[in-house]
Amino acid sequence: MSKKRDYYEVLGVSRNASQDEIKKAYRRLAVKYHPDKNPGNPQAEELFKELGEAYEVLSDPEKRAAYDRFGHEAFRVGGRGHSRTWSEFHDPFEIFRDVFGSGNIFEQFFGSTSFETGGRQRGNDLRYDLEITLEEAASGTEKEIEIQKYETCEECGGTGAEKGSRIVTCPMCRGKGQVVTSRGFFQVAQTCPNCRGAGEVIDRPCRACNGEGRRERLSRVRLRIPPGIDTGARLRSAGAGDAGRKGGPPGDLYVVIHVKEHKIFDRDGQDLHCKVPIPFTTAALGGEIRVPALTGLVNLKIPAGTQSGSVFRIKGQGMPVFQSNQRGDLYVRVEVEVPTQLNSEQRRKLEEFAELCCENNSPIHKSFYERLRDFFTGT
Ligand SMILES: [Zn+2]
Ligand SMILES: [Zn+2]
Repeated sequence: MSKKRDYYEVLGVSRNASQDEIKKAYRRLAVKYHPDKNPGNPQAEELFKELGEAYEVLSDPEKRAAYDRFGHEAFRVGGRGHSRTWSEFHDPFEIFRDVFGSGNIFEQFFGSTSFETGGRQRGNDLRYDLEITLEEAASGTEKEIEIQKYETCEECGGTGAEKGSRIVTCPMCRGKGQVVTSRGFFQVAQTCPNCRGAGEVIDRPCRACNGEGRRERLSRVRLRIPPGIDTGARLRSAGAGDAGRKGGPPGDLYVVIHVKEHKIFDRDGQDLHCKVPIPFTTAALGGEIRVPALTGLVNLKIPAGTQSGSVFRIKGQGMPVFQSNQRGDLYVRVEVEVPTQLNSEQRRKLEEFAELCCENNSPIHKSFYERLRDFFTGT
């Protein structure tokens, strides 16, 4: 027999690892080497067994202390430091179930059946991607979606039994609920796959659902979308996932939100941004303009001498803040529009205006050319 590996080495942790670190290391490796994940791989099975043993010792402060002191000798019957109260090592699958629980976490890793008795099994969680408009995201909305999923069978009410059928002892496990299988050189009692641990089966399963207690069909689900939601948000609709097997509890439905692009507004978290063109006369003279907001048009004062690209903030006209009664702001960027297709009168007036213009009317222009001149003369 090859030399036993050091337990800390097996778990890949240091000798002063905390209980938490030990548990984490075990969880990670046990999932990786679980025989269900590595069918026909005796090496993985060995590792899995070794992991269970190492974890069993290092997770128990008393056994760990003994191991730190005596090494493997501590657990050899008759060996130094061996305590009579320590029986043989446990079944590594039992340790695995102790650490992971027998329900959903196990399913999550292996996608296999749960261990609920009677073949009851929780339904799967489902995901639905929902596209909504910016307006809907702002006000909140109700949506009805259609989704293909398992629903409780109406014929048998989820029991999976045909009317008048009887419950009989499971022929595979003879009512024990467990079958013993060999995994390499150790034997493991497993939940009976026929009755899933119940020890009993229905003699005539429901014909509508083949005894599953559920049937797949197109279902409608109503969703309430709260205001302020943004792309990537995940809403959970408890119990709206797949119905469970044979009356098991239903899974949940997760709705992932995607907010569509808007023709006018760009969203930045709770704030909105938009661009509004204004006539150059308004920019020069000042005035009040109407700008779009989610609630309709709102007034915005443009001061005289406003430059193109100036941004004005309108408080409280942004998106509602999720789960609060605050609102973000609206940022309006004005873009000065230079008039085109001038008629002769307009042209003449503008020429007259141009003649009246002086340097002070164009301070930006002036300072730019000053800098340019400095650049060329090297001062
Ligand atoms: Zn049925
Ligand atoms: Zn059985």
